[in-house]
Amino acid sequence: MNAYVTAPPPQIAVPVQGGGLFPVRRVYCVGRNYAAHAREMGGDPSREPPFFFAKPADALVTGGADTPYPPATENLHHEVELVVAIGQGGADISVETALSHVFGYAVGLDLTRRDLQEQAKAARQPWDMGKGFDASGPIGTIIPAGDHPAAGRITLQVNGQTRQSGDLADMIWPVPEIIAALSRLVRLAPGDLIFTGTPDGVGPLARGDVLRGEIAGVGVLETRIT
Ligand code: MN
Repeated sequence: MNAYVTAPPPQIAVPVQGGGLFPVRRVYCVGRNYAAHAREMGGDPSREPPFFFAKPADALVTGGADTPYPPATENLHHEVELVVAIGQGGADISVETALSHVFGYAVGLDLTRRDLQEQAKAARQPWDMGKGFDASGPIGTIIPAGDHPAAGRITLQVNGQTRQSGDLADMIWPVPEIIAALSRLVRLAPGDLIFTGTPDGVGPLARGDVLRGEIAGVGVLETRIT
């Protein structure tokens, strides 16, 4: 018999509106998917192919829990994003059928140690320690897909003040094209989450900040930086 030699890690899961838990396998993120944010980061918002990075599944913060301010940064940034939850896997998914692979949607935060990310960019090193740190992915309740939100306001308030405000319709690569592109690089499976990029207005956070992300037709995410 081959028993585990250490305790197996717990299954990460996100609550679903109406009951149940969405078990998480992988967490992917899209970079620079809104033109105004690409410009504020010094990029060119042309329709270059979407690019992807990842966070560990256990970096998610669920259930409105507090988010601890991470170590090794003096410039923690907020990025409010639409998150797609994959319910049916596949590879080489077509744009036309992509939405049939979606279980639901949520509001998420792609928290970023911007100083470490900028150092990595300058040194041509990977982004993992800027993006994939512990508690880097607060996420709200998953709403099962009824109609698919191709448009709608996406906002982030910090301490009651609006910091980010955009519209899902301004995505350079809409959800079906993101799913199709990602599925040509890796096989998607039930339990995968995709953070789909942030509108402009990203900026620094401090301990004690109260964050409220909202996407019309999707829901609300609340967390406090501690
Ligand atoms: Mn992001």
